[in-house]
Amino acid sequence: MHHFSYRSGVLHAEAVAITRIAAEVGTPFYCYSTATLARHFQVFTEGLAGLNATVCFAVKANSNVAVIRTLVSLGAGCDVVSGGELLIALKAGAAPAKIVFSGVGKTEAELRLALSHNVGQINVESEAELDTLSRVASSLGKTVRIALRVNPDVDAGTHDKISTGRKEDKFGIEWATAPKLYRKASQLPGIDASAVAVHIGSQITELAPFEAAFKRVRELVQQLRADGIDIRHLDLGGGLGVPYDHNSNTMPPSPEEYGAMVKRVFDGIDCSFTFEPGRLIVANAGIMVSEIISIKDSSARRFVIVDAAMNDLVRPAMYGARHDIIPVQESSSATAPVDVVGPICETTDCFAKAYPLPASLKAGDLVAFLTAGAYGAVMASSYNARPLVPEVLVSGDQYAVVRRRPSFEDMMALEQSPPWAE
Ligand SMILES: *Cc1c(COP(=O)(O)O)cnc(C)c1O
Repeated sequence: MHHFSYRSGVLHAEAVAITRIAAEVGTPFYCYSTATLARHFQVFTEGLAGLNATVCFAVKANSNVAVIRTLVSLGAGCDVVSGGELLIALKAGAAPAKIVFSGVGKTEAELRLALSHNVGQINVESEAELDTLSRVASSLGKTVRIALRVNPDVDAGTHDKISTGRKEDKFGIEWATAPKLYRKASQLPGIDASAVAVHIGSQITELAPFEAAFKRVRELVQQLRADGIDIRHLDLGGGLGVPYDHNSNTMPPSPEEYGAMVKRVFDGIDCSFTFEPGRLIVANAGIMVSEIISIKDSSARRFVIVDAAMNDLVRPAMYGARHDIIPVQESSSATAPVDVVGPICETTDCFAKAYPLPASLKAGDLVAFLTAGAYGAVMASSYNARPLVPEVLVSGDQYAVVRRRPSFEDMMALEQSPPWAE
């Protein structure tokens, strides 16, 4: 469910015409819908009703401060994976107690930063990190709640590049060594080892891998408790998938089905829960809008060359991901297959091959890439000296530029000549 729809033949974000934003902001740009963000957060939270649950938005999916502030105002905490994301979460007003610091390689400086801001939980991914954290926490006179992020060795059946819960993946602590490490953690100064964390991957479209992982977590909790380690908190990660293809008839499980499964697996466990959804909250709440630069016909195919490129939305180039593409002006013209490509000198700068778009499309027309709110703007770069793509947030009949397009001067501001060239 999202709030991007045609009104009088023009695509709108809530009550704002995309053509109006394009005229005022220029293209390409990302556009987010506040109503969609709120709805997704609410639907996910409602699916967990009855659990003592905190929903910590995974900031890496979309780190725009205005987006995070919107979610924080609805009660969200934040899952962060770097010092930078931690500072963004704080800037967006997240309560430190509702911040979870995850990530496979945290530096000592990042751990110190997290401790100095009293984050609610740090998810530890290795024995070395546990030792460092204990040393830093005790030197600051603090005790921090930790979870070991355990690797349940389940295959989430997702794309190879976004799977994290198999034993050959770099993430988490190997299942067999987890009890021993908990025993050690429970003796270390500065460490409150009362939580278990698991996150098996992203864009997971079935319940079975989650359920398999969660059942293993439940067994681990019972084993740890029998060992005298008082586990009170479970962090079940994120990863629930979203539909990217409106033609597909396989739908990912709903938050309601997911919540029901969690309640079934953990019935009677007596723990509080943290969830870290990213994609599920923001993907459908964002689109990327681009203008057609030109249309080029070769003997083999027709190319629609747009002014957005892989530097603005890298998912198709990086993961072979698919985004629905629709014209901003509704068209009744018959569709024909085209390749939608960006202007960058890389063959992989291609958004879609043989994609059906109205044959009437011409240079100057606008197209929208749907389901682009997650892992879109956050992964953008300025490759080819293209300015970082701006972001717009809509609420009702209002919109605001929440990250502007940098000027050439902005882009040059970090560079300087070496002294010998002056
Ligand atoms: C990436 C990540 C998430 C969010 O994943 P989504 O698929 O966007 O829900 C949550 N937790 C951790 C530890 C992550 O690395």
